[in-house]
This record gives sequence, structure tokens and C-alpha cells, in this order.
Amino acid sequence: MIYRLLLFLCIAASCFAQTATRALTILHCNDLHARFLPDSRNLGGFAEYATVIRRETAGCQSCIVMNAGDLVQGSPVSTIFRGVPVYQVANKLGIQVSTLGNHEFDYGWQTILKFFQIAKFPTVSANVVDDSGKLLARHPYLIKKVNGIRVAVIGAVMGNLVSNYLTADIAGPWHALPVVETVQKYVDEIGDRADLIVVLGHIEPAERLDILRKVPKVAVVVTGHRHRGLDKAEVVDGRVGVEAKAYGVELGRLDMQVDVARRSVASWDWKKIPVDSRTVKGAPDVKKVIDKWEAKVSRIVDVPIGESKREIAGAELKLLMERAMADEMHADFSYMNQGGVRDRLPKGKLLARAVWNIMPFDNKMVLGKFKGSQLSSALTRGRTVDPGREYIVTMSDFSADNESERKLLGITGLQFETKTVLLRDLLINWIKKKGTLD
Ligand SMILES: [Zn+2]
Repeated sequence: MIYRLLLFLCIAASCFAQTATRALTILHCNDLHARFLPDSRNLGGFAEYATVIRRETAGCQSCIVMNAGDLVQGSPVSTIFRGVPVYQVANKLGIQVSTLGNHEFDYGWQTILKFFQIAKFPTVSANVVDDSGKLLARHPYLIKKVNGIRVAVIGAVMGNLVSNYLTADIAGPWHALPVVETVQKYVDEIGDRADLIVVLGHIEPAERLDILRKVPKVAVVVTGHRHRGLDKAEVVDGRVGVEAKAYGVELGRLDMQVDVARRSVASWDWKKIPVDSRTVKGAPDVKKVIDKWEAKVSRIVDVPIGESKREIAGAELKLLMERAMADEMHADFSYMNQGGVRDRLPKGKLLARAVWNIMPFDNKMVLGKFKGSQLSSALTRGRTVDPGREYIVTMSDFSADNESERKLLGITGLQFETKTVLLRDLLINWIKKKGTLD
């Protein structure tokens, strides 16, 4: 009897309240990079992506859809129309909160304001500020109620945004504050107003790990940027970091039981849902908009330019691009940054589109004449140079103007002349002249 009474009192006083959990599911994408159409392996495609998101969220009260940056840049439509159509189509994906990636800056920072106008979803970004500390985005974070849980989502981009990824003209007055310190500041500001704090970051992997280790009040870190994504979730003391593969080939799904009283994740399961156009039918309403935009660029990019006997990718493709640059610019030394090689050259008949996918950026070529004594080993790469002789060096204006690239190449003191030719056109012309690559 006494036992029963105690049990009753215990229930009435909610002895078990601290073990009560609520379900929360984060569906997340990153680095979609304007790849409206499925790739050469039939993976991805925005219409197919929409179908998968709609299937996963149908009737789901505990779901929230997040995008971790780099929606734009990576296809002819994006380059030609400066990202605008990508935001229009992204409005159909069901994204509820998004953050800025480094490539959102590619068309000049002012274009980001246009993206904000088009987007029907909010963009959170806590660490992109001008010298007075003013934020580029309207919200550093927001708090959304999902299945009765107050979920705070703080946006962040990598701290080395400007030095590593942008040139001074496109960054304008903006720079990125250190990620961990900024996240901590907003965690303190949010205080008791949230039951779970999530960071939505387009950040370096080391920064994700840093947040998990150093800001324990952040329970979940959803990221983008390294295109290969994570195979397994990154876990520190029960706090979880996740990242999906780029180009819309998969959607991340993090199912959690949230311990609301403790503001932590009690249990979780992370999976990545493949987006395969052979088994997923693209959403017709999305496809209609995509087809409209693709038709506008097709006559420019779907033209034959040659043939490749095999698929060429990675470091080998970088070397091929350097060869094309040296040939076309009549240069002794050429350089291509590996990070700027955005796709693989497919085997078989080549359309100009393949080169647009490899080189979506509107980078122009630069050229300079320098003494052998002025050239670093990063440029000459083992070739012997005569210190007194003049050599012609060529690269893209990105490499010539970007702070970390300039340091890497030892060209800080060298003056280049910018040419009118686009690197992409140079590659297309070079392939046309070659006819067949083997
Ligand atoms: Zn990216």
C-alpha cells in the first residue's frame, strides 16, 4: 500500500519527467551546387531531390529540413544567370532553414541580397560581418518549434572564408569571424529559450569537430563544404555531427529522441538516402521550372566539342587543364588550383556542358613575364630554370588574386596582366583543336 502510494506520488510529481523524450528528425542537404539535372551516373537532380524530400516529410510532425550552403555555382544555368534560378527552384525543395556557403559569394556579395529576396526560406548566418560588426544575413540564428521542441539553429561559414575562398572584390566589406567563439556567443544569448541547439554550418571539418568538443551546449552540428560528406556521424560525448555528399546525390536523415529537460540528444540514428533518377521520379512541378531554364542554356552548352577516350578526373584533370593553359597562352609555366576543378571529364563524345561543369566559374586568364629567379618551386615544380631568363607564367585570376593561393605560389610580389579570355573558353577551344583526348 505504501509502495503504491509512493508510486502514485512519484508519477504525480513526474519522477520520470527527466527521461521523457520527444522525436525530432533533421533532413539535411548541402553543396547542391545548382546541379538541376541528374549526373552521368543518373544520380541527383533537383526534381528527384524534391521527390525524396517530399516523401520523407509527408505527414511528419517532427521533421525539419535544413540546407548547409553552396546551393549555387556548378552548372551553366547558375553561371549564366548568376545563381538566381537556383534559388527559385530551391524554393520548391521544402527547405525550412538555410545557411550561406562560400560559393554564395561567387557572383559578388550584392547578389546574396538578391538570393535573400527570392528565397522563401530564412537564411541564418552568425559570423559574416562588416568592420562595424553588422551581419550580412538578417538572422544569426532562429528558434523553430518542431514537435513541441524549441530548436535553435545557428548559421556559420568557415572562418577562413575570405583568405581561402574569395577574392577581395567579391567579398566587398564582409569577412567571417572565428566559428567557435561566435557560436559560443550566440549559445549564451539563446540561453533558456531553446530545448536543443543546432549549428548549421558551411565550415571546415576541423571547425565541426571544434564545435562538438568546445561548445557542449550545441547538441547537433549539420554541415556542408567537403563534398565527399561523412560516412559515419562524428560523435563527441553524445553530440552529433553530420554531413551529406555534394551535388544532391543523397539526402541526410538524422532521427533523434531529444531529452528536452537535459537539452540533449538521448538517442539517434543517421542515414543517408540515395537520390537515384533510375528509381526516383522527378517532381513534375520542379521539372517544369528546370526544363524552362535548361532550354535557355542548351543551345550554348549542348554543342559537341570533341571526344575523350577515357574518363579523366582529379589530379590528372588538373594537369590536363594546365597543359591546355600553357598551350593556349604560349606560356612556360601554368598553374590550376585543384579546388577549382569541379567535375570529371566523361568518357566518350564531349559537349561544351562537360567543360562548364568542370569550370563553372567565370575566371579569366592572367599572364606575367618574370625572371627565373623570381619563380618559386611551387610554380616550377622541379623543372630547372635559368635565374636570368624571362619566363611566361599563366593561371586564372582566382589564383592570382586569392590571398592563400598567392602565398602558396610565392607570387605575392609579382604583377600579372589580366586577359579577356575565360579559362572555360580556353579549355573548350583547346579540346576542339585536339579533337580527341587520350
Ligand atoms: Zn561546395
